[in-house]
Amino acid sequence: MPSQLTDHLFALIKHHGAISVHDYMDICLNHPNSGFYQKLRPIGKDGGFITAPEISQIFGEILGLWAASVWQNMGHPEKFHLVEFGGGYGTLMKDMLRVQKLIPAMRAACHIHMVETSPALSDIQAKALNAQGFERPIFWHKDISSLPDDAPCIFVGNEFFDALPVHHIQYQQGRWYERQVSINDKKLCFTLHDEALQPPQTHMLVDTAKEGDIIEFSPLSLTITHQICEYLQRQHGAAIFIDYGYAMPCFGESLQAVKNHQKVDVFETPGLCDLSAHVDFGALGQIVGQYNNLQLVPLITQGMFLSNLGIFERAEQIKQVLSNDTPKQELESAVNRLTHKDEMGELFKVFSFGSRDINLPFDKHDSLWQKGFNHRDDN
Ligand code: SAH
Repeated sequence: MPSQLTDHLFALIKHHGAISVHDYMDICLNHPNSGFYQKLRPIGKDGGFITAPEISQIFGEILGLWAASVWQNMGHPEKFHLVEFGGGYGTLMKDMLRVQKLIPAMRAACHIHMVETSPALSDIQAKALNAQGFERPIFWHKDISSLPDDAPCIFVGNEFFDALPVHHIQYQQGRWYERQVSINDKKLCFTLHDEALQPPQTHMLVDTAKEGDIIEFSPLSLTITHQICEYLQRQHGAAIFIDYGYAMPCFGESLQAVKNHQKVDVFETPGLCDLSAHVDFGALGQIVGQYNNLQLVPLITQGMFLSNLGIFERAEQIKQVLSNDTPKQELESAVNRLTHKDEMGELFKVFSFGSRDINLPFDKHDSLWQKGFNHRDDN
């Protein structure tokens, strides 16, 4: 079925020739008029896909607890910046702030910043957060460069990195070629660039490829991780990102399209489905390892993270104040969805890092990296 973006993509490809998978993903998600994230409500039960903060308030509350523990271990600074990347509807931040009501000194120290590229979602976030009556102004940024440099920082993000565009390169007869999107028989299709390219030298698998292997990588994810590390190295603090992805680099591609909560073809209705790719946590972890003052916390699953920080106890507490069975069952099923290994519990990983001198939660745990948990889970 054609979408507004389909005409634009056909005209672009006819005029300029095939475009990279990277540019296709970028246009579908971020085109200023018809990109997926410009839609009024792309996420949630009525949107294309649902995320953990929209499943249950407890998800954000647990992240709020994690942030409280980091703030305490930093020596409870009188001022710090709480920065969320890709905040969707502002639900995660709202739920994190609920925890701070119990810790007035932390709330008094907290300055909120949202790094968000979608004007439509920034507006929704502003409405949601302003309605909370937070005591200080909240700031929106298009990227990290305009964040103030005057205090330690806690960075958070959920399903942020999976939304950043990826390149696909394919190995053929001893050389690497960019995978592209072209038109065949009036339909969008994959093709390969006819000129070979230099693969990214830092990618661990470049020298072991076999005929037909594809490597997927996201330069913007690497850049943003570097920027966060530089900030933390200068200013002190920690970062946590939750997303689906794999612990170690692997061959193959994971670009997927989701519409009305179902997986669909990546060329179906461009701009009307969510496009995403699994996150290469190994590549992001390698970057953190390049910064002397930073420590990389073991990679763990979302299920382990939420259960260790008390999701089941908090669910019981909420159940006590619910008077009838339906909301109680809904809560149970939400908690199950977030934690069970066959739902989001194992596919989603918790990637965190921060200044070496802060005791970060989970820093003594076994890591999925050490366990060689290196397959890509295609649930
Ligand atoms: N965290 C939210 C939304 C996830 S969807 C949730 O869990 O519900 C991805 C979010 O990242 C959207 O808000 C999207 O607009 C934002 N985004 C995509 N690319 C971005 C970029 N380069 N910088 C900042 N935000 C971006």
